[in-house]
Amino acid sequence: MRSRPVVTIDGPSGAGKTTVSKRLADAAGMIRVDTGAMYRAVALAARSLGVPWDDPVRLGGVARELELSFRVLSGVPRVLLSGVDVTLALREPEMSMGASAVSVHGPVRVALVAKQREMARDGGVVLEGRDIGTVVFPDAEAKFFLDAAAAVRARRRQLQISPPGAQSFEEVLRDVLRRDVQDSTREHSPLRVADDAVYIDSTTMTVDEVVGEMLRRLPGVPR
Ligand code: C5P
Repeated sequence: MRSRPVVTIDGPSGAGKTTVSKRLADAAGMIRVDTGAMYRAVALAARSLGVPWDDPVRLGGVARELELSFRVLSGVPRVLLSGVDVTLALREPEMSMGASAVSVHGPVRVALVAKQREMARDGGVVLEGRDIGTVVFPDAEAKFFLDAAAAVRARRRQLQISPPGAQSFEEVLRDVLRRDVQDSTREHSPLRVADDAVYIDSTTMTVDEVVGEMLRRLPGVPR
């Protein structure tokens, strides 16, 4: 039995999960876990080790051995891979496609899901991803599915890409749509709305409105 809630935010690329989960975690005094960064880190680590993104067995090993930590330095969330700050490298367009490619493999998912469950075991955690409410924490105390129109998601995604301006809007939109298909049609843990998730379409909502809506639905959080 957890003393504090586990909150899950799933949804497609660019729906606003990163911004919203940061704000929600701050407002509710919780820790945030960006599970997409974990899949990106497997892609990055595999590339530097010379492991191809279509080798499930070796990728499973990379995922199990992953030494990943999330830190907040001067108020900015950072991701460290084997002690090296890879926050910006993980946001490169190549790593978006790499994450989507490595995440289809069962051994990768098994390894990362185990790490995610361990990180959030005691609750007080907001996890964002694709399969958190359906597979990782089906018993989460609060589940959200955050969505938005594809063009709006591509525009938001373009603002996060490193280095800024590395891709045109059309290129980002094409990648977003390609990842939508890949993430929702894969065999293992495809992106889908959990039966008991609150569905929020953020197309015309501000960040404040989305976070406010989520806070109202959190159990045990003073408002
Ligand atoms: O959220 P982000 O864009 O960083 O995720 C990168 C990719 O990692 C996604 O497109 C998806 O393929 C994969 N992913 C996943 N399961 C998660 C989080 C991310 O399969 N829980």
